[in-house]
Amino acid sequence: MLLDNRTLLFSLMLISGLMALSMAVVVRKDERDGLSKWSAAISLETLAWLLIALRGSITDVLSITVANIIMASAQGLKLAAIYEYRRLHCPRWQYLVPVTLAVVLFGGLPYNAVTERLVLGSLFYCFQLSLMLRVLHSDRESHTGHAWGLIFYSFWAMMAMLLARGTVAAFTHIEFASTPTSIAPNPIQLGVFICIMSFALMGSLGFVLMIKERSDREIRTLAMTDMLTKIFNRRAFMIQAEKELAAAERSGLPLSFLMIDIDHFKQVNDQYGHAAGDAALVGIADVLSANLRKQDTLGRYGGEEFCALLPGTDAAGAMALAEKLRVEVAMTRVHLQETSLALTISVGISVWERERGSSDSRTLLEAADQALYQAKSRGRNRCVMELKVAPALRKADLANISAA
Ligand code: GH3
Ligand code: MG
Ligand code: MG
Repeated sequence: MLLDNRTLLFSLMLISGLMALSMAVVVRKDERDGLSKWSAAISLETLAWLLIALRGSITDVLSITVANIIMASAQGLKLAAIYEYRRLHCPRWQYLVPVTLAVVLFGGLPYNAVTERLVLGSLFYCFQLSLMLRVLHSDRESHTGHAWGLIFYSFWAMMAMLLARGTVAAFTHIEFASTPTSIAPNPIQLGVFICIMSFALMGSLGFVLMIKERSDREIRTLAMTDMLTKIFNRRAFMIQAEKELAAAERSGLPLSFLMIDIDHFKQVNDQYGHAAGDAALVGIADVLSANLRKQDTLGRYGGEEFCALLPGTDAAGAMALAEKLRVEVAMTRVHLQETSLALTISVGISVWERERGSSDSRTLLEAADQALYQAKSRGRNRCVMELKVAPALRKADLANISAA
């Protein structure tokens, strides 16, 4: 036999010990995603494996009772780490009950009751794994990443292994020796050790990668979101605009741009203060997003200017939607701390249509900006379309829509 059980156990110990050490080196004290708890759990696991590997050379109390209580505590810490990752509170019973059970089970059973210990021990660790799987399963947000599957399915596999071991121990007469040194390589015991070693490693890798995937997602969202209004920032909007334009060129459907500016906004700041101005910006962003369609994109272009992309919308449709936004904003009183006020917006519109050939998002935004300038100079609280971009729509049509 190339590897005996003790060698395998020492390899397992070495791997989990190195992993605990590496994590301890990189984890910061203020970490709030469960990594420090997970690192402590692997350290405890390493200690438990060390005691198990020394079975025969140390007392049974240490290598069976103490080792399993430490192993159960390590699993409890992993559960607490998963709860912390989910930013949830871990109910106390979920780690106190298993540790108490471990004390009763591994301290109470006679050391020569090998079969009973194998069966009950397998069921006990399955129970701990199922607690972890439950919390992992309810994390819908992490399902989108691959790391979640790594930890979830390695825990499932570990549970299947333990159940198989328990079943074999309960219903067959295959010998499980109590000291790893004394047994002739038992294929089941050997298989269980190899599998637990691999799955524990995969589970820990999965946990670390799951944290990384979530921070990547959060950083991406932060980089794309306007912190005040929580809508797309200018950068994210321009990226989306390029995408929508490419999609419009492929499909041949029109694409409209709106450039929206709040009228006399400086007065709001001057009269009510900057904080009230901020609240008003949030209020207007809410009104705009509530009145756009699901397929539309709203962004904050900067200051008190917003922009919207309307895919599949021609000049007439864009004018109608812009008018709807203008009327809704004018009719809504934006609530500030001590007062509420009615604000108005001016909207500049430009349209991309296939017949007019290719264009880039910047040109269309510039055209919408010019139209906005027109709306401002014609007295504000109105929508104006850049006619160079949409010659197909006659002025009379636009007047009719505006009047409607
Ligand atoms: P107009 O009708 O011509 O658009 O007039 P206006 O006063 O809205 O335009 P102007 O460009 O003169 O002023 C825009 C103001 O918006 C000035 C600036 O203080 C305010 N502003 C820009 N960004 C923010 C912000 O994030 N928070 C607050 N509270 N105010 C902002
Ligand atoms: Mg303004
Ligand atoms: Mg402005």
